[in-house]
Amino acid sequence: MEKEKLDSFRAMLVELKKRLSSDYEKTLESASEEFGSEVPDMNDEATRTMSRRLLMSIGDKSLDTLRQIEEALERIDDGEYGICAECEEPIPEGRLELVPHAIFCVRCQEQIEKK
Ligand SMILES: [Zn+2]
Repeated sequence: MEKEKLDSFRAMLVELKKRLSSDYEKTLESASEEFGSEVPDMNDEATRTMSRRLLMSIGDKSLDTLRQIEEALERIDDGEYGICAECEEPIPEGRLELVPHAIFCVRCQEQIEKK
């Protein structure tokens, strides 16, 4: 891949990482504020458990994406960015523009998600 393109993908990834990190921190902050100190009654407890699960799943999702972004940035440094980590075929640039942290081609991604 051309250096200019790589640089622009790197910039996109860094930007995405910044945004996700602050989102994640905000989620954690609001979670601890909301669930921190009060002692809930029974009905409240059920609601709180649900909200807590919801918040945790949001958190997990951004953590996953953050990990992928880290990996994509490493792949840029290693000169392997844009190549599928599974089958080593090039990942179409159109896909990278939509999902700059993609490290698998569509086909491998689908197979991994099925597992
Ligand atoms: Zn692949």
